[in-house]
Amino acid sequence: TPGPGGCIGGGNVQVYVRCRPVLQEEKEEDQVSVLSFTQDTNQVRVNHGSGQVFQYTGVFEPASKQEEVFSHAVAPLLKKVQEGGHCTVLACGHTGSGKSHTIGTHPGGVREEEGILQRAIRTLLRLNEPGISLDGSLDDGQTQQRRSHDHLTISMLEVYNETVYDLLTPTRKTVSSKNAFGGGLEVMGAVKKEVQCVEEGMAVLEKGTLSRSTTSTSENQHSSRSHAVISLTLPSIRGGGLLKLVDLAGSECAGRVGSSSTTTFNEGISINKSLLTLGKVLNALTAPTPIYVPYRECVLTRLLKDSLCGSGQTVMVACVTPASASLGQTLTTLRYAQQAT
Ligand code: ADP
Repeated sequence: TPGPGGCIGGGNVQVYVRCRPVLQEEKEEDQVSVLSFTQDTNQVRVNHGSGQVFQYTGVFEPASKQEEVFSHAVAPLLKKVQEGGHCTVLACGHTGSGKSHTIGTHPGGVREEEGILQRAIRTLLRLNEPGISLDGSLDDGQTQQRRSHDHLTISMLEVYNETVYDLLTPTRKTVSSKNAFGGGLEVMGAVKKEVQCVEEGMAVLEKGTLSRSTTSTSENQHSSRSHAVISLTLPSIRGGGLLKLVDLAGSECAGRVGSSSTTTFNEGISINKSLLTLGKVLNALTAPTPIYVPYRECVLTRLLKDSLCGSGQTVMVACVTPASASLGQTLTTLRYAQQAT
């Protein structure tokens, strides 16, 4: 039976840690790696202080490729989406830890370096399957069948200071919403773009990313202080297969509540609250017996309720850097990710 939040617990949340390499500029500052990894046991060890060890569903060490992250952490979810399930991928970590690289919001152009987004779009459009060429063109015999089944829609929203914005409108606009079952939030009238190939999908997402980073309401680095929620939907699948990909606000922004600026203070409170609530929600979802799932405590979890509570799975990818100067932030992320399981 569903729990009071309308959801059943039972372990459908998986948490991975991905560590990026020490960057050249960090090496030039004589920074060294303070993390080590045991992939067999899914552990991360902090080689500093008491030498804490953390364990997750899986760990990706600095040498891990984009393909590995995708095939282990995300591909199983896409199978469920193709069967009509609703799944969620959340990327957390501090600014500079590799969230964009992992998600693929700033693509470099090289196929090998493509992130989760490009790979997910390609998989959902079934462009990897035999008989379909890499650019998505098909043999004549298959075109008809593909037209009727394989397109997806993309929407891109932003949650900033407990308000939802549509990043796919020409000028980033507030969206209207109404209360949905069990504390959820149903967004009304958000732009949905239909795409049939990876290039179309990325063109849509690039516009959204640009709109997110060039908002006039704040100073630099706005994007690290908001959450972006990208929805990929397969409308022709029964059940409306849905993948939500969430680029969470930089975890360092949650700590800025001591700031003298009112804007930064409110942002800090809002980010703190949403990251904490998200942690509590994930924790409740994995409880062995149904317990109250506190979706309604913040806009982010209300907005994610339909995918977190869906007939699918949730994966968190916690991004960290091994560099010594970021150890404090890294520990925050490692602890956050561990309590979410
Ligand atoms: P965030 O989105 O968390 O702020 P980025 O994805 O922008 O972080 O990554 C910060 C820097 O680290 C970028 O220069 C990026 O190219 C690099 N980087 C991140 N992850 C990796 C990786 N796995 N391998 C190589 N370089 C990476």
